[in-house]
Amino acid sequence: MSTTASVLFDNHGRPLEYVRLAVTDRCNLRCFYCMPEQGIDYVPRQALLSYEELERVVQILAGLGVHKVRLTGGEPFVRRGLLPFIGRLRQIEGITDIGLTTNGVLTAPHVPELVRLGIRSVNLSLDTLDRARFLRITRRDELPQVLATFEALIAAGIQVKINAVVMDGQNTEDIIPLAELTRDLPVEVRFIEEMPFNGGSHAAMSLPWNHVRIREHLAEHFSGLLPVSTAPGATAAEYTIPGHMGRVGIIAAYSRTFCGSCNRIRLTAEGGLKTCLYDQGVLDVRALLRGGATNEEIRTALTTAFRYRAANGFEAEQQRPLHQLSFESMSTIGG
Ligand code: SAM
Ligand code: SF4
Repeated sequence: MSTTASVLFDNHGRPLEYVRLAVTDRCNLRCFYCMPEQGIDYVPRQALLSYEELERVVQILAGLGVHKVRLTGGEPFVRRGLLPFIGRLRQIEGITDIGLTTNGVLTAPHVPELVRLGIRSVNLSLDTLDRARFLRITRRDELPQVLATFEALIAAGIQVKINAVVMDGQNTEDIIPLAELTRDLPVEVRFIEEMPFNGGSHAAMSLPWNHVRIREHLAEHFSGLLPVSTAPGATAAEYTIPGHMGRVGIIAAYSRTFCGSCNRIRLTAEGGLKTCLYDQGVLDVRALLRGGATNEEIRTALTTAFRYRAANGFEAEQQRPLHQLSFESMSTIGG
């Protein structure tokens, strides 16, 4: 292995180190905060970036200093060929960290292969431990499968971060039981503010459970909740609880408190580049790939996009030609 590429900095001095790839927009759940009951208008298969195209983009990004890749979606495990694709990403020089975000429904049988592929960390989405609430939130009765994945990941020694979206009137009674998982398990349970990307499922909402309220709720229950310092670029504010093996985290995804150190970009399922979760896409990478652009041309286009980045999610939202966020589904963005 030769030396890693020097890191690219944006117009606000933030490094580009991390890319999130939505490998599909399809999903086997219908979480109401993400998409409508009938699903979204899925991108036709030929419009999805092929694995070869994704690999090429990651190679170019690795040359720009990106070292971390997260595979997300939609549900990554509904796309065939995911595991061989991970194997190919592992071969790309400069990529040192590959993570996955999954809903866990189909994941358990693949855990041994994930270990073999060197996956060290998986983000598992789990908003409730109650089967009836799980069904209400995801519109599917799959909690046992998700819990089986959780157990398999822990048993395999893969670091697990649980992502729980906190929704007023839906699962706030789950905050403490989910946080209790950290008592005897080395997991991080991260509570996420709900964002208005739900594919038109419901209108943009107010946010009764913002990061401050979630922290106060945790602090009322767990005395000694202590903030810990996190790596630059981290989105979660992390806390330890005395006597607990794991940690809790709070992601102020709607309040956008972490934009100042954001080190990531996103590629949507159809190859749109987002330099901020809240922008509407700033570059059509698929058009470049399919239009015969050279690696150097794609590299220049990516570099330029990164140098014109919005300062934060509020600015990115303002710059959208259509300010409405809620028609977009998180399953095309990748979270
Ligand atoms: N299907 C996979 C899963 O659910 O883990 C990966 C894709 S999903 C879009 C990635 C993450 O985005 C999940 O943790 C999910 O909870 C989160 N998410 C989806 N819609 C959201 C919303 N409207 N607000 C906050 N988080 C959301
Ligand atoms: Fe599917 Fe994940 Fe969206 Fe739920 S959050 S509908 S599991 S993509």
